[in-house]
Amino acid sequence: MLTIKNLHAEIDGKKILKGINLEIKKGEVHAIMGPNGGGKSTLSNVITGREDYQVTEGSIIFEGKDLLNLAPEERANEGIFMSFQYPVEIPGVSVSNFLKAAINANRMAHGLEDISAKEFLQKVNEKSKLLEIKKDFLSRSLNEGFSGGEKKRNEIFQMAMLEPKLSILDETDSGLDIDALRIVSNGVNKLKNPNNAVLVITHYQRLLDYIIPDVVHVLRDGKIIKSGTKELALELEQKGYDWL
Ligand code: ADP
Ligand code: MG
Ligand code: MG
Repeated sequence: MLTIKNLHAEIDGKKILKGINLEIKKGEVHAIMGPNGGGKSTLSNVITGREDYQVTEGSIIFEGKDLLNLAPEERANEGIFMSFQYPVEIPGVSVSNFLKAAINANRMAHGLEDISAKEFLQKVNEKSKLLEIKKDFLSRSLNEGFSGGEKKRNEIFQMAMLEPKLSILDETDSGLDIDALRIVSNGVNKLKNPNNAVLVITHYQRLLDYIIPDVVHVLRDGKIIKSGTKELALELEQKGYDWL
């Protein structure tokens, strides 16, 4: 699904990614761990095309397409989803209406008509049941006064509704209490299927107690310095990163 080769990226002339190689297949969950400042968020931003990083070398191929030639919204339309680290508040736009607009934008990009009210409702019912999301949540204003847990729930609900091929979840330091961890991990586990893939970025080993990754990578100083199975995450929890 995703093949990254020798990816180098910089911002304002500062080299951040220094030769990333990564291959994610359909049906897989990959976790990227590593010390703060190693380049994890940069990698996710470069994959989704967010922010002004210059890719100076290497390639990112997604389902046979060169992502580096596509604008961020085109990448989203190809089926790449990324959670927002700091979700914006949009007063007056409900969770549900925001999602309908997002779904329709995606359908339009593929030459499809808007989703019908009936079909949308069915989908909302199905996904909210799966993720145990209460109906009143869906009529709330997007992110307005959301707790950390509610933001996570909204993010996972977006993922469920948009059915991306590849989901990138950058679980940064902020606001990840146990509830939020559970919401993210239950959501990922329930939405995982043989045709999609998930890339979870975290420096919390705890998250990987709930999400069982197929592959764990350690990203440090712009490079993936080690890859392994979930046991690697346990080892990192005990020993830290310095032994690598
Ligand atoms: P991580 O997510 O692993 O903590 P980041 O990708 O956020 O790492 O950051 C990697 C390095 O790139 C850090 O040294 C950070 O300061 C730098 N960096 C990231 N984004 C920017 C930016 N927009 N402007 C300047 N430096 C940045
Ligand atoms: Mg960081
Ligand atoms: Mg980060």
